[in-house]
Amino acid sequence: MQITTDAIVLRCWPVNEADLIVSLLTREYGKLKGVAKAGLKSRKRFGGALEMMSEVRVTFFERPRQELVRLDHFDLIESPLGRPVDYARMTTLSFFAEVVEEALPDRSPEELAYRLLAAVLEYDSGEQMWLAITYFSLWMTRLMGWLPDLGTCSLCQQPLLRRDAQRDAQRYAWFDAVSDGLYCATHRKPVSLPLSHHSLQLAQKMVRTPLAELAGLPWNMQFAADLRRFAFQSLERHLERRLRTAEVLRRMASQRTAQV
Ligand SMILES: [Zn+2]
Repeated sequence: MQITTDAIVLRCWPVNEADLIVSLLTREYGKLKGVAKAGLKSRKRFGGALEMMSEVRVTFFERPRQELVRLDHFDLIESPLGRPVDYARMTTLSFFAEVVEEALPDRSPEELAYRLLAAVLEYDSGEQMWLAITYFSLWMTRLMGWLPDLGTCSLCQQPLLRRDAQRDAQRYAWFDAVSDGLYCATHRKPVSLPLSHHSLQLAQKMVRTPLAELAGLPWNMQFAADLRRFAFQSLERHLERRLRTAEVLRRMASQRTAQV
């Protein structure tokens, strides 16, 4: 059966002499892998569309009893190479690819994940990359069903944000690497890390606000850094492994902080 759908290229690697295996997030069929026969040579069928995070219209054939589809050709919609790619942007794109690869099951339609990925790709460079990374990691946590209630302490159910703004400025919610949830000051663990009042409010806003509406905030690597740490930890705990690209982003942030 021949199928055509929108997709975003996650990764590709060579097999045999000239073939490629391509991992894709498709709009309608979820994440899938396919073989691009002679993909290394055939610029006409795949040329320019095999870069990580290329948005393409892909035509493929299902193969009976085979896990890999046969990729027929790609029509490029948008290439990440249309804009300059520096180390920070490459790391950001790799982070999106790694999280999608690790978190989403194969062949399970995830249109929200597709739309999320397409949306964050609009903000993948400059200081806005920190918006894209924060929004993407929090939303992926949510789409996977791993995001705790952002309003109340996971133990006592007391509200984490109160109306007393004067006191709230000093208040934190707490999270840790070993358990799900957000906790009040009473129920935090000794190893817990703080999530500021501001970042908690931002997280609550993020889960009900389109990405574009958050673009006016003063994004940089310090802004909402605790919220990113919380989202990265949630993803890594559930994936039961460290994310290689999250590690690079953490290092990038700590190095630049050290230079200031
Ligand atoms: Zn509590």
